[in-house]
Amino acid sequence: MTGIPAKLVLASHNQGKAREIADLLAPLGVQVVSAAALQLAEPEETEDSFIGNAVLKAEAACAATGLPALADDSGLAVPALNGAPGIYSARWAGPERDFGLAMRTVWEALAPGADRRARFVCALALKRPNQPAETFEGDVWGELVWPPRGDKGFGYDPMFVPHGYAQTFGEMDPEKKHAMSHRARAFAKLVAALG
Ligand code: IMP
Repeated sequence: MTGIPAKLVLASHNQGKAREIADLLAPLGVQVVSAAALQLAEPEETEDSFIGNAVLKAEAACAATGLPALADDSGLAVPALNGAPGIYSARWAGPERDFGLAMRTVWEALAPGADRRARFVCALALKRPNQPAETFEGDVWGELVWPPRGDKGFGYDPMFVPHGYAQTFGEMDPEKKHAMSHRARAFAKLVAALG
């Protein structure tokens, strides 16, 4: 079966991500049911790649509900830190989900004068009942800055300035971020393949 499902479960408990995905799905007329509303358990992310973890989350939500499920696994990869925090981006914020702490940990891990380039990556997995998961990946390169700036985004947004722009993702209006973010690019691939 092709095409974007008319109704799907969004397999994410991260409110920042869920808000962005709802915005990106809105023009497609898709009815979105949240994992939180269905009280779905969050599976442990045991894979070693963004795509692997997105598939794991989409498969769990599809199996639990019988509905098509869309999952996003994403994060910030810093070449000077050998790709960290990468798939551990959420875990660097600790159990309190303190992204002030996570951003400081990234910044302090960089040696003075180190390469400050970074890449946001988003992997999307769409799993329909009785079909293999379909996956799409998008990324955006930028520069890390300190101190963090702006409160419009979530996660590491306040310390990331995408190349070609002066504002951090935390300072940008959502429409601007949605026009060029890693998530927007992964969605564009999904829509091109299925829309
Ligand atoms: P996970 O995909 O649930 O493992 O979490 C990914 C983590 O990466 C999030 O908790 C954020 O900290 C970070 N992240 C992913 N996408 C973004 C983004 O668009 N802006 C800022 N941080 C992000």
